[in-house]
Amino acid sequence: MSGHSIVSQDRSGPDVFRERLRRVRERMEQTGVDAVLLSVGLDLPWLTGYHAMPLERLTMLVVPREGDASLVIPRLEAPRVVEQPGVFTMVPWNETEDPVAITARLIGRARTIAVGDQMWARFLVDLLPMVRDVDWRRAVDVIGPLRMVKDAAEIAALRAAGSAVDRIAAELQAGRIPLIGRTEAQISADLSARILAEGHDVVNFAIVAAGENAASPHHHPGSRIVKHGEIVLCDFGGTMNGYCSDITRCVHVGEPPADLRRAYDVLLEAQQASVASAVVGVSCESIDDAARRIITDGGFGEYFVHRTGHGIGMDAHEDPYIVSGNTAPLEAGHAFSIEPGIYLPGRWGMRLEDIVVATPSGPDPMNNVEHSLVVVEA
Ligand code: ZN
Ligand code: ZN
Ligand code: ZN
Repeated sequence: MSGHSIVSQDRSGPDVFRERLRRVRERMEQTGVDAVLLSVGLDLPWLTGYHAMPLERLTMLVVPREGDASLVIPRLEAPRVVEQPGVFTMVPWNETEDPVAITARLIGRARTIAVGDQMWARFLVDLLPMVRDVDWRRAVDVIGPLRMVKDAAEIAALRAAGSAVDRIAAELQAGRIPLIGRTEAQISADLSARILAEGHDVVNFAIVAAGENAASPHHHPGSRIVKHGEIVLCDFGGTMNGYCSDITRCVHVGEPPADLRRAYDVLLEAQQASVASAVVGVSCESIDDAARRIITDGGFGEYFVHRTGHGIGMDAHEDPYIVSGNTAPLEAGHAFSIEPGIYLPGRWGMRLEDIVVATPSGPDPMNNVEHSLVVVEA
């Protein structure tokens, strides 16, 4: 099942990174930033294709507003870098050199400098006295709005990852992932193996919560054994070619009782209305409201205890957040989850989650597998 695992990598050639660098420089101009410094964290691979390992040795991309960007990198890591002509030049450093001093030299006379959120404090603390009279900013102010708007290659990667977990959910719904008599942890391990077998590089989570455990949204799968007559919530995803999948489906082992069936009808209606509302130009909070209104009208408002969704891309959770108070308008290319839930403490819980990309022609779901509460007998 590895045939679909190279989609995004192939498309992310130098053109993609040159275009991202162009947009970063445009934002630097608009925000008055002279230089951007990126170390570990996901801004660096977004801009260069290179994932720095979180080592004690410094890796740092220095992006001046004009002129070449430089990747300061330990010489022993340099062979892992795929060079991107027109994006950056490599500045490998030897074990006896001080990479922070090299960084300071490359910064030159830049006076407004934006640094990546995940840069290690030890490097920044060493750098501070080497460059004086600097107005320090956060790189997220420059890059955040750009990373939020996914380009075609990124949407293709999200779609490939989404299809992969859809196939696993379909197996679950078909009763081909045994539930009865197994522990949540065993089922979680089964899902994790399937996430990898479907071409993901990493499993990010595989929540399995049965019966009353499903009332805890981030339940840690444990030794509880799944029995006939209960709901099983599965929320799982991983990273494939640098982009994340994230899906939640619930199945019921045997026929569900009428009250649970009715609650699921409300949840399904809320989730679908929320997806449909996700058109370009509406506020992020209005998408949350679309789901919440229906769940509240259905009598379960107090049991929907979290925001409706989160952005997704290289990070499993990133901007934009689909939450009350986020008045930012939805733009074409925004990718996010829509995952309302209803959680009755001590009894049961349910959540329904798809990843959706906003496009000029409306919401484009990355997950399309059956949305109803499927009854399984295995
Ligand atoms: Zn979550
Ligand atoms: Zn999820
Ligand atoms: Zn999610």
